[in-house]
Amino acid sequence: MVPVYERVALIGLGLIASSMAHAMRRDGLAGEIVGYAKSAETRKIAREMGLCDVITDSAAEAVQDADLVVLCVPVGAMGTVAREIGPVLKPGATVSDVGSVKRNVIEAVGPHIPDGVHFIPAHPLAGTEHSGPRSGFAELFDDRYTIIVPVPGSDAEAVSRLTALWKGMGALVEEMDPEHHDLVLAVTSHTPHLIAYTMVGVADDLRRVTDSEVIKYSAAGFRDFTRIAASDPVMWRDVFLSNKEATLEILGRFTEELFALQRAIRQEDGDHLHDYFTRTRAIRRGIIEAGQDTDAPDFGRVKARQG
Ligand code: NAP
Repeated sequence: MVPVYERVALIGLGLIASSMAHAMRRDGLAGEIVGYAKSAETRKIAREMGLCDVITDSAAEAVQDADLVVLCVPVGAMGTVAREIGPVLKPGATVSDVGSVKRNVIEAVGPHIPDGVHFIPAHPLAGTEHSGPRSGFAELFDDRYTIIVPVPGSDAEAVSRLTALWKGMGALVEEMDPEHHDLVLAVTSHTPHLIAYTMVGVADDLRRVTDSEVIKYSAAGFRDFTRIAASDPVMWRDVFLSNKEATLEILGRFTEELFALQRAIRQEDGDHLHDYFTRTRAIRRGIIEAGQDTDAPDFGRVKARQG
């Protein structure tokens, strides 16, 4: 296959970057892959694994002559990295990212991108609770959506090339504007993570009372919460700090619904509860019909990998 980009630089070598490296290699999508991560330890692991063709000791060195640079660092680090690489980017290159929040990343990165370099933000809706260079796998993006978020003036040719790369890595690609992206993700990912963190925190407090029964008898519902709540603390801290408005908006709605259900339980309003749970069951069916999860029991734990 003819590579989509001759030279790709991955900045940050965690779950998403390492999955991209594996997927690009699987499908021959990049002529050469160069990588950089902040710590010497991660760079050493990446070198030992042969994750990329070259691992450099600075971000500036990694992006030299790169046709595509993908920022795969936590959202709060995007601006710092962009400032470092801005002056050495190759004219005509594309800079993209994989951050879970878009408006904030656009504001942090955009000012550092020089004229003549295309900036095309993106977000693969795929992940696991694992992190680091060893956690990636080539199939992570298969049949999952990647949202491309072009900024005003984005070059159509550069957007279609980036789209071709993501499709080559197995993803389904759609475009969205940043505000819409951040609101949708607050509903589908960010707020559910916060709820999982809260539920596991509550159970942890309770554990002190019930002497480890919470772990011993942990049923599927709670176990799924603990899986989500095991996600990388730095990544999720940054997500909430940078998608503040949308998350608070959805949390406000969530709290209202929770109070309504609380009242229904107190008043023994079985009809309300039944109607509510019937509506939510239909949403689950819709997700399965859209091919975004499996109908296997136990939440398809073996096959489904959703970020
Ligand atoms: P990860 O596994 O924790 O890896 C993060 C990487 O970024 C590490 O290699 C880290 O290097 C590096 N890094 C941090 N600060 C840096 C800096 N200033 N300069 C250079 N490298 C730096 O994270 P991930 O899960 O791949 O997430 C990366 C991005 O993808 C985040 O923006 C996240 O929002 C987004 N995302 C994540 C998921 C998911 O489910 N995990 C899904 C979609 C999108 P060291 O190892 O040396 O510290």
